[in-house]
Amino acid sequence: MQDIRRTLVAKLINDPAEFIGKTVDVKGWVRSRRGNKYVQFVALNDGSSVKSLQIVFDLAKFSEEQLRPVTTGASIHVQGLLVESQGKGQNVEIQAEELQVYGTADPETYPLQKKGHSLEFLREKAHLRPRTNYFSAVLRIRHALAYAIHKFFNDKGFYYFHTPLITASDAEGAGAQFQVTTLPLNEVPVDKEGNVDYSKDFFGKMASLTVSGQLEGELGATALGCIYTFGPTFRAENSNTPRHLSEFWMIEPEMAFYEIEDNMDLAEEFIKYCISYALEHCKDDIEFLAEHFDKELPERLKFVVENDFVRLPYTEGIRILEESGKKFEFPVYWGVDLASEHERYLVEEHFKKPVILTDYPKEIKAFYMKLNDDGKTVRAMDVLFPKIGEIIGGSQREENLDKLQGRINEIGIEGMDWYLDTRRFGTVPHSGFGLGFERLVLFVTGMQNIRDVIPFPRYPKNCEY
Ligand code: ATP
Ligand code: MN
Repeated sequence: MQDIRRTLVAKLINDPAEFIGKTVDVKGWVRSRRGNKYVQFVALNDGSSVKSLQIVFDLAKFSEEQLRPVTTGASIHVQGLLVESQGKGQNVEIQAEELQVYGTADPETYPLQKKGHSLEFLREKAHLRPRTNYFSAVLRIRHALAYAIHKFFNDKGFYYFHTPLITASDAEGAGAQFQVTTLPLNEVPVDKEGNVDYSKDFFGKMASLTVSGQLEGELGATALGCIYTFGPTFRAENSNTPRHLSEFWMIEPEMAFYEIEDNMDLAEEFIKYCISYALEHCKDDIEFLAEHFDKELPERLKFVVENDFVRLPYTEGIRILEESGKKFEFPVYWGVDLASEHERYLVEEHFKKPVILTDYPKEIKAFYMKLNDDGKTVRAMDVLFPKIGEIIGGSQREENLDKLQGRINEIGIEGMDWYLDTRRFGTVPHSGFGLGFERLVLFVTGMQNIRDVIPFPRYPKNCEY
């Protein structure tokens, strides 16, 4: 048997016309085997589709002995004729002519024997869960969304801009940072005052993993016009929630000459584009996830694409929450940083639509946001989604040097000279936002827990592989 190429199972199932009646090669992993003493049916999955291809082994052609290693989890190569299937549950099948077994999987020890393992069980076996239908569906959708994001920005003339993962800037204030050091932890060098002597450290100063690429992104936008970042970010906060990871991917577009309205328009168009892309290109996977986990998923996705997001000032949002008569766990008052329950009330119960909340009190937002004329609020815009809460956080940036400098002094941040140069030299109005990639994947897959939409989740007390 020639072993030079394979045809993807997705192609054979979804677009079989050109292959029917022809000999094809398929390679993949056995999901299941059943049958009788005349014929055996093997479901073969090669990762290209949530659907498995049925392979029919005629026991007049193959011996029991030959088929013994073909058990769940084994990897095989089959050559055979693709035919229209007589049976229920599939449109085509392969009548096997030749079989090659690459690797066996001992049924006594292979952990993914039965269908329908719980998501918790699979999280324990995270190194093998890409072989399950649920997780491979999530991973294919994740891939499609990543591609859609690059396509969206590229088609709009944005440049993909790489900001550093190791940073010496601590100013974003978005979250606690993981320190990066090569100092010996059992014998940390100290200076005369007894403080850690970072001049002896690898970079000669204190360094950390980035929590956001935004500030560096602004350097890109004030030169290239419109840029976006798409990379990992790290937050050392002890957030054991279904929406927080310690390592997550973030997309941060930053646009020169954009005011907050332009920023909102872009955020809404962007997120709708990504969801539409997934609806169009991941039909089978979305259908599968809907069937097994979340019946309303396709409707919810279409609804978001087809409806305008509500745009509402924070002050109005607080009023609605206060007048709701609802008992929240955390109190509501003007100036409070909204909790997820507040965000979800506005989105799921009051408006029943995604909401862009704007003009937050300056005290609860980052120093770089543009101050409104009222002197109390800033031009922030958070996009709030059903089931997720905050999916995007963004703002128009303060472009006035004196105001920004004033705010930096007020808060007492140091080492920002490089950042202030964007305002010192040729400053422009500009805006940007950050989308948490896993929160988008969470929404599009309908999964409940963010740990189930990234291959190797990192969270407090968990760093496997
Ligand atoms: P939250 O209030 O939900 O913790 P945040 O205000 O800290 O979010 P930003 O600093 O504005 O979030 O980050 C931008 C986006 O990154 C958020 O809108 C969210 O989608 C995502 N995000 C933030 N923190 C995390 C995290 N720990 N894990 C996954 N995604 C996150
Ligand atoms: Mn946070």
